[in-house]
Amino acid sequence: MSRIQLESVSKKFGTTHAIHDVSLDIADGEFMVLLGPSGCGKSTLLRMVAGLAQPTSGRILLDHNDITSAPPRQRDLAMVFQSYALYPHLTVAKNIGFPLRTRGQSRQSIAESVANVASILDLTPLLGRRPAELSGGQRQRVALARAMVREPGAFLMDEPLSNLDAQLRSATRTELIELHNRIGTTFLYVTHDQVEAMTMASRIALMNDGRVEQVGTPTELYDTPRSTFVAGFLGAPPMNLLAADVVNRDRELYAEAPDLFVPLGISANGGAARSVTIGVRPERIVLRHDGVGTPATVATVENLGSEELVHVRVGPNTLCARVPRPAGVRPGDTLHLGLDKSDLHLFDRDTGRRLV
Ligand code: ATP
Repeated sequence: MSRIQLESVSKKFGTTHAIHDVSLDIADGEFMVLLGPSGCGKSTLLRMVAGLAQPTSGRILLDHNDITSAPPRQRDLAMVFQSYALYPHLTVAKNIGFPLRTRGQSRQSIAESVANVASILDLTPLLGRRPAELSGGQRQRVALARAMVREPGAFLMDEPLSNLDAQLRSATRTELIELHNRIGTTFLYVTHDQVEAMTMASRIALMNDGRVEQVGTPTELYDTPRSTFVAGFLGAPPMNLLAADVVNRDRELYAEAPDLFVPLGISANGGAARSVTIGVRPERIVLRHDGVGTPATVATVENLGSEELVHVRVGPNTLCARVPRPAGVRPGDTLHLGLDKSDLHLFDRDTGRRLV
């Protein structure tokens, strides 16, 4: 059992307020990803859970026990860093068995545990090698094996794939997902890579400037972002966001921006004009050639192989549409955009918070 709870945790480094009042409840067996831009506080939060840094205020609980001030070795947690820190002079087997040797376990029981973990991670043929004789991905797996051999209550990982090339990163990502499915241990995983977060997480905690902006499943964050920050962070390319006003025409609400007037599918009686930001995902914009919809002019077309990104101008705004290739359009073409009201996201322009 390993449930990790953060209660109103804050951390200051001198005058830098790195973490502001973060509360997070990570269920036993969950794969929780801390995601966010550089400097938002992900590593600081993870280090506090590991016991490598102390919160300025707040509490950290492991299975309801307060571990806020407990030293790292009393926490039943295993940390895997982006630098693997393997011992170069030891074989893979000795590296993996190292934490058990320091615990004074018998030779026989260490050998059994190492063999077991090595077989789970496909390292059996490499047990006699030294770290210099391994690829980056293999070293990463040895570091993971060394963490696993202690059978910790939870794994804490700080960008463990960032030293791998794109292909290996993708393969190791799949391995980690399979590993989590198999062993069901709690994972707390730090990354700034949204693809890692979307593909691996049971839930994502998206951080911004020391605060948690939103916690939810990858689908929840993608489909119903709580703020323009979340909407703009997830998705490649990100959600189109543009300033508009909500106006009432004949008791129906519309979003109005220069050269754009789209129904929101909401009936209302009163309704003073309200400043909003409207959002639409690139893959939700339809390019139409039948004269129906919002008039637009093609600015540029980017070929992604299977799809194209078509950047179009609508008044002073540029929107990006992601469409199957070939889109059959060129810069300068005029066309219309199909924007379905069910695909529009509405945010308060001042606070950035989601309205609908
Ligand atoms: P990255 O993805 O770049 O590693 P991060 O989201 O993990 O970033 P942190 O490393 O947690 O961010 O840093 C959060 C903030 O706290 C930053 O402003 C950073 O400069 C500051 N910070 C982190 N550690 C210290 C420290 N030991 N002393 C002073 N400031 C620190």
